Amino acid sequence: MARLRPIYLDYHSTTPADHRVAAVVAREMAENFGNPQSDDHVFGTWAASAIEAAAEHLALLIGGKSSQVRFTSGATSAVEAVFAQFAEVRSRIKHSKLRVGISAVEHTAVLSSCARARSAGEFDLVEFRVDGRGRIDLDHLAEKCRDGLDVVCVMFANNEVGNIFPVQHISSIAHEHGAIFITDATQAVGKIPINMQDQEIDILICSAHKFYGPKGVGAVVVRSGLPFTPIHSSGTPNVAGVAGMGEAARLRVLERDQDEQRVGELRDRLQELLVESIAGVVVNGDLKNRLAGNLHFSVPDIPNKAVVARIRDRLALSTGSACRSGIEAPSHVLMAMGLPTPQAEGAFRLGLGKFTTPDEVEEAADILKEAISSTRGSLRQ
Ligand code: PLP
Repeated sequence: MARLRPIYLDYHSTTPADHRVAAVVAREMAENFGNPQSDDHVFGTWAASAIEAAAEHLALLIGGKSSQVRFTSGATSAVEAVFAQFAEVRSRIKHSKLRVGISAVEHTAVLSSCARARSAGEFDLVEFRVDGRGRIDLDHLAEKCRDGLDVVCVMFANNEVGNIFPVQHISSIAHEHGAIFITDATQAVGKIPINMQDQEIDILICSAHKFYGPKGVGAVVVRSGLPFTPIHSSGTPNVAGVAGMGEAARLRVLERDQDEQRVGELRDRLQELLVESIAGVVVNGDLKNRLAGNLHFSVPDIPNKAVVARIRDRLALSTGSACRSGIEAPSHVLMAMGLPTPQAEGAFRLGLGKFTTPDEVEEAADILKEAISSTRGSLRQ
């Protein structure tokens, strides 16, 4: 049967909201519409309670404290607020630059915030190396921590190759050397178990639209006892969005493990189909530690954009390449991994999620197989 819309396999970019989440957002907008800052009537109290309840659901999902949750307008604004606060702390209590270490494969939100602070003379920045599979070089990280770092920032899971990083190990190295440990857990929250207290995460950042919640809502969560207040929200908060994030978190607590199990099986099936039917496929990333919904592969003799042009109305995926100064460049993640140029230029990121079906997987494999084979054919002519 012909599909009305392309098959969606770009769940790292964003996820469709769960209908139960959308129902909560609609209810909060139309019925529980009060301003949480209005303390003269119950409408305000109800709205404030909705925010508190959302903080509780999120705290449960990540093993944090609800009193330490601050909602933001997404992960990017959360990252910016945290690093801006660090820059401010530095200017208040220290006169030298803050020494910050980040992995070379962080999201551009972290890379840009840090690059800005470095240009402004606020941070001394070091990058932790990764190997060809995108795994962090822990010896290099420990060496940099020994040399002296105030802040270590390593993402929980990578948004391109899907690697899940050994966060607990990294936080213990950071703490052993007196650094604060921050993790951008945007791709991990709602997909894998997280416990901020046990894993000694000082600051965690996440975003609702990556786990079936609304766009434009995120959070910064600070570990209890850490003397750090990252943000003071001003203005009327996005109550409906926050309540939607809370509902999405509540559902993930209940359903995450079984959903991710199924997603992992579908990803394995898709990988098997692609590897057996397309000559030269290389699967990238850390195959032993990656998100269940991630499948990142290269076909080194095929420019990914030529394939995307053939399939964009049938299959939604991502090449991960970025347009810099009008020129397509492979992603910084693949460059940091040192992938040869043909492998980076022939890279495809597929992201599966809880709404992906077995039929879609079979069909997506056929679409890719056919498009790659015809692109190969046209390149030979
Ligand atoms: N960090 C990571 C790892 C991401 O994958 C993303 C989104 O792609 C972000 C941060 C930015 O999130 P938001 O869209 O909420 O600003």
